[in-house]
Amino acid sequence: MKIHTIHTEPSEKKGYRGQLLWFTDNPFLHPEEECFRYESDGMLIVEEAGLIVDAGEYNEMMRRYPETSVVTDHRGSLIMPGFIDTHLHYVQSPMIGSYGDTLLHWLNQYTFPTEARFYDKEYADTAAKMALRQMLSHGTTTANVFSTTFATSVDAFFEESERFGTRMITGKVLQDRNLPDNLRDRSTEESIEISRRLMNKWHGKGRQLYAVIPRFAPTSTPLQLKLAGELYQENTGRGVYMHTHLGECESEIEWVAELFPEADNYTDVYRRFGLLGPRSILAHCCIMKPEEWRMLYDYGSSAAHCPSSNLFLGDGQFRFWECTDATHPCQFGIGTDVGGGTSFSILRQIGEAYKVGMLGSHPLSPLKSFYLATLGGAKALRLDNCIGTFRPGHEADFTVINLHADEFTIYRLSHARTLQETLSVIQTLGFDNFISHTYVSGRNVYTRDSDRQFRYADEAR
Ligand SMILES: [Zn+2]
Repeated sequence: MKIHTIHTEPSEKKGYRGQLLWFTDNPFLHPEEECFRYESDGMLIVEEAGLIVDAGEYNEMMRRYPETSVVTDHRGSLIMPGFIDTHLHYVQSPMIGSYGDTLLHWLNQYTFPTEARFYDKEYADTAAKMALRQMLSHGTTTANVFSTTFATSVDAFFEESERFGTRMITGKVLQDRNLPDNLRDRSTEESIEISRRLMNKWHGKGRQLYAVIPRFAPTSTPLQLKLAGELYQENTGRGVYMHTHLGECESEIEWVAELFPEADNYTDVYRRFGLLGPRSILAHCCIMKPEEWRMLYDYGSSAAHCPSSNLFLGDGQFRFWECTDATHPCQFGIGTDVGGGTSFSILRQIGEAYKVGMLGSHPLSPLKSFYLATLGGAKALRLDNCIGTFRPGHEADFTVINLHADEFTIYRLSHARTLQETLSVIQTLGFDNFISHTYVSGRNVYTRDSDRQFRYADEAR
């Protein structure tokens, strides 16, 4: 990366030169070629406050913004909006990669004992630090995150996110039955009060956003689901989220049917308790009836497709063609679902999403995949008014994919004839060294080839 100064006066705008790719609309609903912009020699213009001023062809940007004082040269790289992870558990960072046979066994054997340690703030701080670093080094700048039962686990994550200035969503996980005593909420009413307190502390503080998070229907009593629904409904107007799991595997669906015999289906359990709405994010949605997709559509709720997790745990397969059916097209994004998922990398997830699509004979095109990784994720989280694309006034979260990362990358990409072919190679190989830089609100918080790879926002000005 070369940086050269054009003027000596104090800078107001900075330019980032390289190939630019960003999406402007939903390629599942509109012709793909009308939904993105690509500049082979482009420049992103960012102002000091960390917002995007403009994006376009390099010479045009230089003409339009002659006051641009510093141009960072990322030629040979592809600059894209930061990736968006619509579902992961940072508290499972210490046990990612644990051998799993079934979802429920994997939870009991590894997940619950690990999460039970998060009452310890120091343990939580270390996991939050590791998780944020993994995300940023893989180009992820926003994530919709599960913490766990303890307020310490929520504080630790938001505190680390604040240091980087990232836009993140998390909240206390509500779970008052069917799990070990050392992880379970002892009092249902108190669990809601702790959530309310954390919401008031963190929601809208800087870029942090709060979610009401019942783990999934089987681990909450009907009373907890009811109170969670009320808390979500009371606060959805100010941008509070609801985040949970839905329809991941057959045994889970059978269990839900036993626990909630009055509900028409699994999705209907959440509907009955007021947990569906425009900021409800439901992870997995692998095994869904048409009326369940219709219900999510009617309530404006979104799905998180977690392909590597579904393959790792041998659960269902997300059918994106059912989710986006023209009669009830739902928004969905990509989730790593760490630690059921096998990597924090969204590039690797979209590589896996392609394979899951192929198992159902529905190939997912590279352009659609990169849409899901950026603007699609933002739409699923209802954050497309501020992130996910290079629109003037949007927050300047972006990542730099190095197309010359090593000799094999150079060799292989020299055989790619189109942008689509290049994207297909990037997502399929998914090498960790593809991401060279990550910027948050216009600040360089991650540089791969540096002695100090990570910098908090106040150091990265
Ligand atoms: Zn999950």
